[in-house]
Amino acid sequence: MRVLIVEDEVVSRRLLEVFLGKLGYEVVSVSSGKEALGVLLDPQAPNLVISDWMMPEMDGLELCHRTRDIQVAGYIYFIILTAKMDKKDIIKGLEAGADDYLTKPFDQEELRCRLKIGERIVNLEMRIMELANTDSLTGVLNRRAFMERCQIEIQRCNRECAPISLILADIDHFKRVNDRYGHQVGDMTLQKFAGQLSASSRPYDFVARYGGEEFVVCLPGIDRQQAGLAAERMRRQVEALSLTVPASTNGFSISASFGVASLHIGSEECPEPLIGRADCAMYQAKHEGRNRVCLAIEDWRHEMGLGTQQPT
Ligand code: GH3
Ligand code: MG
Ligand code: MG
Ligand code: MG
Repeated sequence: MRVLIVEDEVVSRRLLEVFLGKLGYEVVSVSSGKEALGVLLDPQAPNLVISDWMMPEMDGLELCHRTRDIQVAGYIYFIILTAKMDKKDIIKGLEAGADDYLTKPFDQEELRCRLKIGERIVNLEMRIMELANTDSLTGVLNRRAFMERCQIEIQRCNRECAPISLILADIDHFKRVNDRYGHQVGDMTLQKFAGQLSASSRPYDFVARYGGEEFVVCLPGIDRQQAGLAAERMRRQVEALSLTVPASTNGFSISASFGVASLHIGSEECPEPLIGRADCAMYQAKHEGRNRVCLAIEDWRHEMGLGTQQPT
């Protein structure tokens, strides 16, 4: 596990670095609260922090407050390690949001044990988040987690003046798979389908089970036309999947209908309308005979680059 050491005093910092290194932790160390905040804003930031209190620019107490205010991917377990040992300081530190409070000079065995507690809490939180965000059958994101992430990505793409697209995919006549081969084969089919959508996506795309046999892929930075091509690639790969029935030599194949919609720079900031348009396009694909990709009819303003004016 990675640990962030925040300590302005060189000797103390080095001592901590060496000790934590020996314990097998991967160490990142900085010399001020301000620097530490920069590190913690990174999505790949360490989840364990050992911070001094008294430091120039931003002290450990303020860093702790700020850490609790920022939206980070996982829980940050925050240990204050300071020379301040008054009862009122300990209370102040814990009230600032610290999980633990240790005084200098630290006892090696005590710090080792307290870091273990932090590790346990961080791992537990990661496991809870994984369970809360994942669809248990297919292993892709569940709908709630998707909506949350999609909202964040829409805002990010808007800030970066980049497009963002969604692909909604619904397995064709999936009820027949259940009726013919049973629910277990149906479940296995859903797993293969989700696996194929994930395999067909780029690392920055994310796939979720929207409900039943309906899945959604978010493609940040991708415009409608490119998303249409990606959906067509997915459609072909799904069609080529060869599915097997246990204890039978007969295999079967499936197809799916895809709806694609995109958000343009500066448009709606919530995912629901976008999903609504992708859903309409997907239903159009169903009506046109299934096993095809349909693009949403985009808002005429974006198509014509006319901003928000109404036509006269
Ligand atoms: P269409 O081409 O119009 O989409 O037809 P369809 O049969 O795929 O759609 P319909 O909505 O009629 O049926 C969806 C089926 O998906 C019915 C439901 O039992 C099945 N289903 C939903 N969730 C699960 C699941 O977790 N496991 C299994 N095995 N089946 C599921
Ligand atoms: Mg200091
Ligand atoms: Mg279906
Ligand atoms: Mg459906």
